[in-house]
Amino acid sequence: MIETELGTLRRSHYSDEINSSMDGTQVTVMGWVLTVRGHGNISFATIRDKNGDVSVVAKKGDCPDDIREKISYLKAHSSIAITGNVKSSEKAPSGYEIVPTELRVFSEVEKIPPFEPIAKTVKNIDTRLEVRPIDLRRKVLQHIFNTRSLVLKSIRSYFNDQNFVEINTPKMIATATEGGAALFPIFYYNKEAFLAQSPQLYKEQLTMSFEKVFEIAPIFRAEPSRTNRHLAEAISIDLEEAFIDYNDVMSRIEEIIKISIKTVTDYAKDNPDAEFTIPEIPETIPQYSYDDLVDKMQKAGAKTEWGDDLYPSNLKKIGLEGFYFIKDWPLAPKPFYVKDSKANPKISESFDLMFGDLELSSGSTRIEKRNELAERMKNKGMNTDAFEYHLGAFDYGVPPHAGCGIGLERLIMALTGTENIRDVTFYPRDVDRLTP
Ligand code: ATP
Ligand code: MN
Repeated sequence: MIETELGTLRRSHYSDEINSSMDGTQVTVMGWVLTVRGHGNISFATIRDKNGDVSVVAKKGDCPDDIREKISYLKAHSSIAITGNVKSSEKAPSGYEIVPTELRVFSEVEKIPPFEPIAKTVKNIDTRLEVRPIDLRRKVLQHIFNTRSLVLKSIRSYFNDQNFVEINTPKMIATATEGGAALFPIFYYNKEAFLAQSPQLYKEQLTMSFEKVFEIAPIFRAEPSRTNRHLAEAISIDLEEAFIDYNDVMSRIEEIIKISIKTVTDYAKDNPDAEFTIPEIPETIPQYSYDDLVDKMQKAGAKTEWGDDLYPSNLKKIGLEGFYFIKDWPLAPKPFYVKDSKANPKISESFDLMFGDLELSSGSTRIEKRNELAERMKNKGMNTDAFEYHLGAFDYGVPPHAGCGIGLERLIMALTGTENIRDVTFYPRDVDRLTP
């Protein structure tokens, strides 16, 4: 009888805690079946846990017959535990194999998986996304999401080291942050409300009390974009700080980029099979003014005028690569809270961080004076009464402040060389996808 319950059995070692010098040691490993081969008198299996693979060799005479047979019938993905003895082996990829003495099969898989768990690539991304929990067992994705977790950890440590306070702001809100942009409406008791497209107004208010704040949380965007860089639900790394301007924010971003690249580089060193394309750590991130880039684009034959957005296709024409900032954007298209340049009122104290033609972050100096803020809202046709909950704070001494939002998924795309944002998102949400 093969036992099927976990009961009090516990793993003694992860795959990477076992090595060939442990010859004869009894271990209990747990994980899922990656591959199985049976040849009558001998069965081979590879068990994968979160840290790597273990080879199991069940040979007639060396291990109980029922275990050897059962192993040979196991299908990929089955969840199992094996207790056995370590045997050093030159043939095994890890230098050792396990000779089983006990087998437990917790969840036996009967189905043929939609793709081989060892597949490096699967053509159709939708085939994968339909069975995302299984897809995420593939090594390529394991590397991406392990790295993503480590990058988040490094960024959090950066903020903690710099004495930022981690905040959480409401995701169910009454009014549009940036006036009328595409929002997801929701039912809020008997009222209409929306999912927050950004923590903008709340993080600005919190600079009054905490000065340096950050939030890592979902933002919701209802624009029906069908691209490889837009999600309906994304994670934004937001920072906001009192008594600084947009230049200081760019310096912080530079630090964050350097730390993030180092984290990914270290991960890739420890995991040579992670096939990332990692950008080099820039000494400084170049800064171009919006004006200069429009000039360059026009000289390169692009149909663009001062005031237009800088489209990826036009950025490609002037061949900008790697990380760079575009600063001092025209004021008119910028949201109401973005400060104008005191030297030239047509220009704003704002920047985008780019990676090639991919926008990673937008940031700016914000307005701290109530009358200026209200004026800007009116010029944009916004209803200041609806925003009184926000404007009211500016009656009580909001400090000069600046900040930015960095798209986590886009950052991970840039750090690992991933083309499709869905591949760096656990459960992507887009125009065509609301499940799984
Ligand atoms: P884009 O022009 O690329 O659609 P945006 O200028 O509308 O982006 P912002 O409002 O400036 O985006 O948001 C700040 C950052 O959040 C962006 O630079 C990007 O990294 C990320 N972000 C914004 N919208 C999305 C989205 N729909 N999917 C993924 N990330 C997003
Ligand atoms: Mn932007």
